[in-house]
Amino acid sequence: MGVITDILTGVPLNAVLRERLVDKESYIAALETENAALKAKIAVLEAENADFRAKFQKIESNKAVHGDICPYCQQPKGKLFDIRPDEHFGVFGDKVRYYKCENCGKEYDERQRCQ
Ligand SMILES: [Zn+2]
Repeated sequence: MGVITDILTGVPLNAVLRERLVDKESYIAALETENAALKAKIAVLEAENADFRAKFQKIESNKAVHGDICPYCQQPKGKLFDIRPDEHFGVFGDKVRYYKCENCGKEYDERQRCQ
């Protein structure tokens, strides 16, 4: 018997009311079991969500530092550190972009076509 029927012990109730109380208490017990199962599922999902958040933040932070593809090591770690005019044509020629790779440490340049 449940709490409600224990409290009502000794109180004259008719058989129909007593049966309804037993039904409600078994319904409450089923809800409590379901609630416990749902809490367990939520705990698993929250743990998975934390993992996914961590992976997502790692991907986003990699994107944030995503640089030019280094011609030496092929990693997207080329960081632009200077842009200068073409050495022969000056401001009328191409611009030269100078990079340093944060992965292998080598420096390289690329010409940016003037338009
Ligand atoms: Zn490199």
